Amino acid sequence: MTNALPLVGNDPVVGLSNLCQQFPGQVVFTTSLGLEDQALTDLIARHQLPVRLVTLDTGRLFYETYDLIDRTRSMYPDIDFDTFVPDPQSLEAFVNEQGMASIFKTVEARKTCCRIRKIDPLKRALDGAQVWVTGLRSAQSENRSDTAKIERDGMTGVLKYNPLLDWTDGELDTYVNSHSVPTNPLHRKGYPSIGCAPCTRAVLEGEHPRAGRWWWEQSSKECGLHKG
Ligand code: SF4
Repeated sequence: MTNALPLVGNDPVVGLSNLCQQFPGQVVFTTSLGLEDQALTDLIARHQLPVRLVTLDTGRLFYETYDLIDRTRSMYPDIDFDTFVPDPQSLEAFVNEQGMASIFKTVEARKTCCRIRKIDPLKRALDGAQVWVTGLRSAQSENRSDTAKIERDGMTGVLKYNPLLDWTDGELDTYVNSHSVPTNPLHRKGYPSIGCAPCTRAVLEGEHPRAGRWWWEQSSKECGLHKG
């Protein structure tokens, strides 16, 4: 693993193609089925890019998200799409010892839940990968404003490529609408950012797009996947 960062340019297709050539079979895209991720999935399928798709089924997703997973698989049958679930023993121990309601009582318990249901499965999903592709956009979160298009991820050590980082809301909507990309109906019901059902609420007009995530916490607003 070299410390030099590959050149990816501004075009997501060019960037992904270059990385797939440089790291054959080692490029993994983690999708949570959000708008950005769905646009990237379409782009990967449309250009037949050899990227492996992975989603993390926390066991607490909305019905609409599970349905979208099925619709996405049907629409893009040729993509390599795997689901990772939490380790059952870790999850059982957490639920028995702390109870699911503990996530609303302390940030520590909430982060433990996120670790078991998201971060540990993510590490397994990225096992053997050299490049982790995400749908992060800098407009999504204040915490992400200093994210680079390509960087070395502090938690996993792999290259992290965020090809849609500079896309505006308008560019994203245009892509999704003009390519008939399958999307989550919850977006039309006030959920711009969708995570686990217990931890996501609709946002009010004028609120930040991620205000509905972990709404009861004053800080944080991240699960830890995209830190470091
Ligand atoms: S978002 Fe909520 S339910 Fe999902 S893993 Fe984190 S704490 Fe658990």
